[in-house]
Amino acid sequence: MLYLGCHLSSSAGLYKAVRQAKSIDANTFQFFTRNPRGSKAKAIDEKDLQKAIEAMEGFGSLVLHGAYTMNLCTADKEARTFAAEVLKDDLLRTARLPGSFYNFHPGSHVGQGTITGIAQIAKALNSAISPDFPGMVLLETMAGKGSEIGGSFEELRAIIDQVDRQEKMGVCVDLCHIWDAGYDIVRDFDGVLTEFDKIIGLSRLKAIHVNDSQNALASHKDRHAWLGEGKIGKEAIYRIVHHEALKGLPMILETPNELPGYGAEISFLRGEFKIS
Ligand code: FE
Ligand code: FE
Ligand code: ZN
Repeated sequence: MLYLGCHLSSSAGLYKAVRQAKSIDANTFQFFTRNPRGSKAKAIDEKDLQKAIEAMEGFGSLVLHGAYTMNLCTADKEARTFAAEVLKDDLLRTARLPGSFYNFHPGSHVGQGTITGIAQIAKALNSAISPDFPGMVLLETMAGKGSEIGGSFEELRAIIDQVDRQEKMGVCVDLCHIWDAGYDIVRDFDGVLTEFDKIIGLSRLKAIHVNDSQNALASHKDRHAWLGEGKIGKEAIYRIVHHEALKGLPMILETPNELPGYGAEISFLRGEFKIS
């Protein structure tokens, strides 16, 4: 089964997002757990949640995305404690959608060093993941911009190694980010997968962010592009989305689109590939 979707706003309720997803032939989607820049999350609307769950019959796992502002390894102790609280609350929300994934950017160590940053991220995860958490927590692969942690498979592995409940940990591969980080998914996607398997383990690969990149391999920039309008290209992206090893994973578009643009990209990915 090909589970394809895009990032949608849930500010008008989850049920509306489900309807939007269906209108563009999506059978999964991603949404922010709270305003991406703010920190306040709205109370869960129980009726809306039930309606959404019923309407999602046949959907793949949903991806809940943590706020970009949540930095679990910021140097400021107070801000770090606050971020850890946000994570806890986000996981409680994720638990309300059984089988869904919670994905977040590991964080930026802002000069503290990678080792300290990784330890702080793992510490927050250890206090947030309860034994009965019914979902999975995904670390997103990053472009390695600035002091960002997660620009290499080794760094993600190091975080997982320090987490107590490793069975709850997975990884979301963002195509734009790993390309920008220096993994050549155009010429050697199988080689990248082999390396992922060796370092992290392929069974931890739980979701894909399907983006083209405005920049060159190893540019460490993180600027998403429409499929085919970037340096990765339509053909490589199509091949990856249909790769045998990724069967059944939610594939989420985070290209700079509104709903119709996402619809066109989903229809391209669901269709037969034609060189235009
Ligand atoms: Fe992300
Ligand atoms: Fe992403
Ligand atoms: Zn990005």
